[in-house]
Amino acid sequence: MDTAPRPLVLEFHEGDRSMSDLLGGKGAGLAEMTRLGLPVPPGFIVTTEACRAFLVAGGDPEGLWDQVDAALAALEERSGLVLGDPARPLLVSVRSGAKFSMPGMMETVLNIGLNDEVVAALSERGEAHFAWDSYRRLAQMYGRTVLGVEGSRFDDLLTEARAAAGVATDAELDDAALQQLTADFRALIVKETGHELPQDARTQLHEAVRAVFRSWNGERARLYRAHEGIPDDLGTAVNVVQMVFGNRGDRSGSGVCFTRDPVTGEPGAFGDYLPNAQGEDVVSGVRSPMDLSELHRRDPEIHDELSRHLAALEHHYRDLCDVEFTVERGRLFILQTRLGKRSPAAAFRIAVELADEGVIDLDEALTRVNGHQLTTLLHPSFRVDAAAPLAHGLAASPGAAVGQLVFDAATAMEWAGLGRNVVLARPETSPDDFGGMLASKAVITSRGGLTSHAAVVARGLGKTCVTGIESMVVDPAARTVTFNGDQVMQEGTVISVDGTTGDLFEGSREIQASIVATTIQESSAGTEVALPDDPTARAVLRLLEQADKRRTMGVRANAETPEEARTARRYGAEGIGLCRTEHMLMGPRRQLVERVVTDDDAAGALAEIEATALAEFTTLLEVMEGLPVVVRLLDPPLHEFLPDLVDLSVAASVAAAKGETDPVAEKRLAAVRRLHEANPMLGLRGVRLLLVHPEITVVQVRALAEAVARLLEQGRNVRPEVMVPLVAEVAELSAARERVESVIAEVAERHGRAIDIPVGVMIELPRAALTAGDLAAHADFFSFGTNDLTQTTWGISRDDAEAGFLAIYREEGIVAIDPFQTLDEVGVGTLVREAVERGRRTKPDLQLGVCGEHAGDPTSIGFFAGAGVDYLSCSPPRVPVARLEAGRQAVLKSASAHPTSDTR
Ligand code: ADP
Ligand code: MG
Ligand code: MG
Repeated sequence: MDTAPRPLVLEFHEGDRSMSDLLGGKGAGLAEMTRLGLPVPPGFIVTTEACRAFLVAGGDPEGLWDQVDAALAALEERSGLVLGDPARPLLVSVRSGAKFSMPGMMETVLNIGLNDEVVAALSERGEAHFAWDSYRRLAQMYGRTVLGVEGSRFDDLLTEARAAAGVATDAELDDAALQQLTADFRALIVKETGHELPQDARTQLHEAVRAVFRSWNGERARLYRAHEGIPDDLGTAVNVVQMVFGNRGDRSGSGVCFTRDPVTGEPGAFGDYLPNAQGEDVVSGVRSPMDLSELHRRDPEIHDELSRHLAALEHHYRDLCDVEFTVERGRLFILQTRLGKRSPAAAFRIAVELADEGVIDLDEALTRVNGHQLTTLLHPSFRVDAAAPLAHGLAASPGAAVGQLVFDAATAMEWAGLGRNVVLARPETSPDDFGGMLASKAVITSRGGLTSHAAVVARGLGKTCVTGIESMVVDPAARTVTFNGDQVMQEGTVISVDGTTGDLFEGSREIQASIVATTIQESSAGTEVALPDDPTARAVLRLLEQADKRRTMGVRANAETPEEARTARRYGAEGIGLCRTEHMLMGPRRQLVERVVTDDDAAGALAEIEATALAEFTTLLEVMEGLPVVVRLLDPPLHEFLPDLVDLSVAASVAAAKGETDPVAEKRLAAVRRLHEANPMLGLRGVRLLLVHPEITVVQVRALAEAVARLLEQGRNVRPEVMVPLVAEVAELSAARERVESVIAEVAERHGRAIDIPVGVMIELPRAALTAGDLAAHADFFSFGTNDLTQTTWGISRDDAEAGFLAIYREEGIVAIDPFQTLDEVGVGTLVREAVERGRRTKPDLQLGVCGEHAGDPTSIGFFAGAGVDYLSCSPPRVPVARLEAGRQAVLKSASAHPTSDTR
């Protein structure tokens, strides 16, 4: 460790881009650009070290002003100007700049060094307009930033001055008006603070530096850091930069630009320019800026020079850069650069095009994008048109949906059952609405924020959702909704919901599938397709291809129906990692289960279950030919298939009161009573069902084996696997395995051929993870059911908690992440690692999969890659996300194993 005291002040040429800890991002960028020989005005940096010392001690660190004086002397020497000298005035800006960019969160003061004398001298030399414009800006920024006057007070005075002069913009104010405005600003400062705007230039400089230090702890800055997870103890650096003046006439101006379009990724400089303005005018929106072509029109040489610098910066930083510049009387200066923020679409396009240009390689391109960005690109959207929104709320869950308005969950389910598309509108939602939300295309609520029940549940389900629509009043009793106070709509009215923007529209808008999603599906259709026109879609394909080359984890899908399986294949799934057999028994087929349980022609019902299972397994295996299909044995508690106990009891009492008897109803009530559980999540499910009530599971396994035997006879290449859910104890697994294998053996014997179906176990209870070594001896593979493993590790029921207390926990910061969305590495992750290690110790070639929804969460995939998992299995639309992220993680892992010389 370096124990020498770190410097409090450095000149630009003494630093470089690796020093952002000490110099802040802005300072490191200015230093690097100075090294590169770009036209950066000279200056120096008061370091974060000085800021930290100032904040800890509550005052100036020792030696600070000596070091500042020395750097200032060097700056005066270099510029031939002197701070506070009316004959040759040096003016500087004092600019905040922390290690991580915190746009607009801290303070900057321009034009330090102006006072009455300097302004008078400049005016004498014919620069009155420029001098007074700069002076009023100093009064404004100094008054606000250093002396704490409310900024809007200055804006009000400016507005009045424009009105009095009858002009539209500040730039049109004449010298006299600017002089008056400066006087008004200074009077305001005195009135509000009792202090004068200091006339001594050094005092201005020192006070401005202190104010920037203090702005680190301003409320805005603290809130921003909390939100972005930036540590509170870093402090900010302060950049003192010789002023260059964009407000010095028509051959002067200021601009902000990117080396490429940050929205679309299109190559070529992109940005805003304002003639005759200082930099803050561009950002603050006081005048609407023009685009860079305006600069080209006015001054093609400057435009060319800027383009050359932009290209050099992008080449040097090897990525999109964001640049501030100023032109002073036909001379260009660069005032800031940093890596540019970009949209998800631009991120893909830029990464791939930089690779095509040879700036980076495809592996690095892959690390420049992530699964969260791809997730956004896969959502459908509305076709762009000029429709004005009916109302606006919070964009709670992305996507686009069209449907008929309904106002309660029961109607939503009923109408959806009739094949209608519905949009569920509620004042807010509660757990009782879950079924209705599931049945709807979109959910909209008038109350609630981004962590409300509706928002959280909808995001979990991938449903479009808009919350907090304040102009919407839902009246479920009257079955109407009123927008904007007077637009009343009845149940059944069609509306369109954009969950990506938070807008609602009257009537039906045309939905377009995401171009990226369509492109991925088409490109894997097997036939040669032309490369898509859309550059982002093309870039996504290239990076997915690269990810597939690099990734060490396989990607499968959770799917039951042939349609889901087809989608999964088109998205590039390499198999089915979870086929939930209970899904084959939902809807009208629930009655079959009910008949088995109440022994109402149980044999007939079982035969019917077996026949439909045979047909469905056959199609599923055909669709997935050549790829593994993991079939999970029946998992839910039986009562899920039965009517509600309370409803039945009420009906029975009513019937009894009337003296009626209905033997079927009585039998049903008895069965429901027998199977009723206080806590079904921890009850008779999964392997327990097979061992206690085996009938249904047995016929499903027989149907699977039969389907396999017949397909094998036709010479088809099918690869089924069976997995046993909710195992806690090795004896459960061995008993289940014996049952399953004897059923398969019977079928094999009947067909006179071998049927090879590996049997694995789900690891979804803590005890299974802890005894994984024993389980491995009886299992051909493990599959981590991380949803249940999270529930049982935390002792939290997902359905109840996510919308209930977990939402409150998150709002209050008691938990930072929702463990059902992003794998809890500390707790659940430890169990996963433990199970991997114990399992592999028993059986080194044990296959390990993950089939909880975490397998499609980009953040969690990073963990699984490190834990040594063989494959991920997630819902079909998330398959590309898993492919991309698995590839990216593999590249990151090998990069950290073999670091290159570039350490940026
Ligand atoms: P922010 O971090 O909020 O962008 P900056 O410190 O970059 O704040 O400065 C605010 C504006 O003032 C920017 O447009 C910047 O380009 C401009 N600016 C800063 N220093 C100077 C200078 N020395 N000469 C001219 N303009 C400057
Ligand atoms: Mg800036
Ligand atoms: Mg489970």
